[in-house]
Amino acid sequence: LHELDRQHFVHPVSSWQGHEARGVRILKSAKGATVTDSEGRQLLDGFAGLWCVNAGYGHESVVEAAAEQMRRLPYATGYFDLGSEAPIKLAAELADRAPGDLNHIFFTLGGSDAVDSTIRFVRYYWHSKGQPNKDQYISVEQGYHGSTSAGAGLTALPAFHDGFGVPFNWQHKIPSHYLYRNPVGSDPATVIAASVAALRAKVAELGQERVAAFYVEPIQGSSGVLVPPKGWIKAMRDTCAELDILFIADEVITGFGRTGPMFACEEEGIVPDMMTTAKGLTSGYSPMGAVFLSDHVYQTIAEGAGPKAVGHGFTYSAHPVSAVVALEVLKLYEGGLFENGIKMGDRLQKGLAGLSDHPLVGDVRGRGMLAAIELVTDKDKKTPVPAELQAATRLFDRAWDNGLIIRAFPQGVFGFAPPLCCTADEIDAIVDRTKQVLDLTLEDP
Ligand code: PMP
Repeated sequence: LHELDRQHFVHPVSSWQGHEARGVRILKSAKGATVTDSEGRQLLDGFAGLWCVNAGYGHESVVEAAAEQMRRLPYATGYFDLGSEAPIKLAAELADRAPGDLNHIFFTLGGSDAVDSTIRFVRYYWHSKGQPNKDQYISVEQGYHGSTSAGAGLTALPAFHDGFGVPFNWQHKIPSHYLYRNPVGSDPATVIAASVAALRAKVAELGQERVAAFYVEPIQGSSGVLVPPKGWIKAMRDTCAELDILFIADEVITGFGRTGPMFACEEEGIVPDMMTTAKGLTSGYSPMGAVFLSDHVYQTIAEGAGPKAVGHGFTYSAHPVSAVVALEVLKLYEGGLFENGIKMGDRLQKGLAGLSDHPLVGDVRGRGMLAAIELVTDKDKKTPVPAELQAATRLFDRAWDNGLIIRAFPQGVFGFAPPLCCTADEIDAIVDRTKQVLDLTLEDP
């Protein structure tokens, strides 16, 4: 397998040299929160795949529902005036649980194409309102919104820009709220005021009549779980409403119980104009994303289109197998997994907070079953760990050798997003094994 992998398999976001040197790690099976690799080693999955297997592995009810749907009707399009039972039911179930009036669902294959779809819907919305010049988009530094070209342009991670010709000239950024290393300090009110001022300044610079939409993640995931201060999202949402800019919440990571409630926006009591989700929607059992459109966005687009077709969609925009998977996963979430996730999230946050005295730990942050620790060599000066350790593979390998899968971000940050089904013992083991990795790294950096 390693030889075939080297010859033929293109790994997204791999460290090419590291991959050449050691070969990929191959997973064979999984149950609950434990995965087994090709050498028979059992590991705790502290990252739920790629923060997606929220329900945990091996749920027979999901497998059965998918198999039954594959037998009966493996494919039906949602294109044109066609549809099938499961995606329509799923749309209704999702609308029922969505914040406010996010009542209209457009299905995608994952998060990137969900974000890309909103970019098009935003354009069509302003076009329908007779303001086609509103064509400038703003997102937040250190944000991640996907890897398709338009989404990668909203993303603010250098690896997704360098050499790719993005961001496009209609994509702009304002600084992140990143509390631990914010030039304005870590006082919540100051950080919120600075972000609001930055958004206003950017809108003034571009011209309010040109700005179409503002994108946020309720918690910035891929840059190392950056949690905004309470009130930040509401302040940004209110500013967008005042300035007549659509507010898009990217809940691809935070949706479906990851931070506690069904959607993280609920915690701040805000309703975005559109919301993107994926990952936990099907818990990784099959690919699917969903864009939630509010009543006014949907109606404006529909009225603008009139009898004309809106030219946007994918072959798999309403995949019935993914839809039954999502419906089954929803039953698991509401049948106890969300409740367990809230309890275990509390345990995880407390356990990790217990590591804050460790000489290598500069910051511990997170909410619910989403967390990170940021490593430093000098706590007072917040000195980042050396470049060798920042190489994600080093920390990842050490954790792996300790029976734990975590995400090691390049800047020396450990990320955690365990399945919501974890037991108390499993959460404690995640924390203990993390401590072992830290101790080992202290001894031998
Ligand atoms: N938005 C956010 C906030 C994400 O974290 C991700 C994926 N990590 C995406 C969009 C893209 O999702 P996908 O990888 O399913 O295309």
